Amino acid sequence: MRPTATGSGLDALPLRADLRARVPYGAPQVDVPVRLNTNECSYPLPEPVAMAVVESVAREVRGLNRYPDREFTALREALAGYLGHGVEAAQVWAANGSNEVLLHLFQAFGGAGRTALGFTPAYSMHPNIAATSGTGWVDGHRGAAAGPFELDAKDAAEQVARHDPDLVMLCSPNNPTGTALGLDVVRAVYEASDRAVVVVDEAYEEFARPGTPSALTLLPGRPRLVVTRTMSKAFALAGARLGYLAADPAVCDALRLVRLPYHLSTLTQAAALVAVQHAADLLGTVAALREQRDRIVSELAALGLDPVPSDANFVLFGGLRDPAGTWQRLLEHGVLIRDVGIEGHLRVTAGTPAETTAFLTALTATLQESS
Ligand SMILES: *Cc1c(COP(=O)(O)O)cnc(C)c1O
Repeated sequence: MRPTATGSGLDALPLRADLRARVPYGAPQVDVPVRLNTNECSYPLPEPVAMAVVESVAREVRGLNRYPDREFTALREALAGYLGHGVEAAQVWAANGSNEVLLHLFQAFGGAGRTALGFTPAYSMHPNIAATSGTGWVDGHRGAAAGPFELDAKDAAEQVARHDPDLVMLCSPNNPTGTALGLDVVRAVYEASDRAVVVVDEAYEEFARPGTPSALTLLPGRPRLVVTRTMSKAFALAGARLGYLAADPAVCDALRLVRLPYHLSTLTQAAALVAVQHAADLLGTVAALREQRDRIVSELAALGLDPVPSDANFVLFGGLRDPAGTWQRLLEHGVLIRDVGIEGHLRVTAGTPAETTAFLTALTATLQESS
């Protein structure tokens, strides 16, 4: 059951005052044929990778009487190798999803009396994790000069200088708008503060259009810069819960102070290690998903809607008179997408060609019904 802040049970508890009005994160998990609402990979693991994971996990099971390697050494080394750009194992941190990586960052660099700044609309979990970690949140904004949802270097740097936050959250490619940031924005934001930890959430980096550089290239000489990644999207491993980051080794030392002991289970480490070793196979669907993403952009434009060009595995589109109604009617057609609360807009994940067709067909029918 989904608890609500106003439920009588909660009211009777000595809950923190700042949590009282909150509702839990709750992207609907509905059992419908076409699920395109949380940007997962629609393709199951390739069979050889699945078997390799099973064998590795099986080897570890009898040793579960012991705690896991607290330093997840083998996994850190493998992730560093995957990232490239000269990243070393001592610069890599991992946790149960990049959401937990972000929580560690907020616990170490945010907290009571401190603030984080993000550029809205962006990933809803950034302000959410700020709130649960007691960190103040400043809603910066995008869109001013460069066009709707765009963020340019000058504007971003001005907002950072004005608010002087302890943490800055950037998201590139940005969820829910889909577009990547230029590295000039990351550089300008970093230089606009001499103390803020600057986090670039690159959950969708593998889907970016060719020529889109990663903020990993900016790490040398920037000890307050952090780049987070996840295996939940392009790696098709959302269920395994593995996120990670690259930063100066001192950042990882800071996170050791806040993580719970043995936070990454032996089974998670084993599964994730095999996944990184099979990165090329797991990432084999990225090209197909990019193709469906670009197909969604062009077909939605042809329907007279207003899709935002995307570097991710999803598309935000506007031009809807009644997004909530459209969302509901799509659900009745068996297609679940996401209402991210932006006026006139909805967001859809690129799926298999068949799922994408099902979405486009249902949307076309929905728009005809309502006109
Ligand atoms: C999906 C997503 C994540 C991934 O979270 P995990 O905890 O790794 O599953 C992180 N950041 C953004 C912007 C996302 O959209």
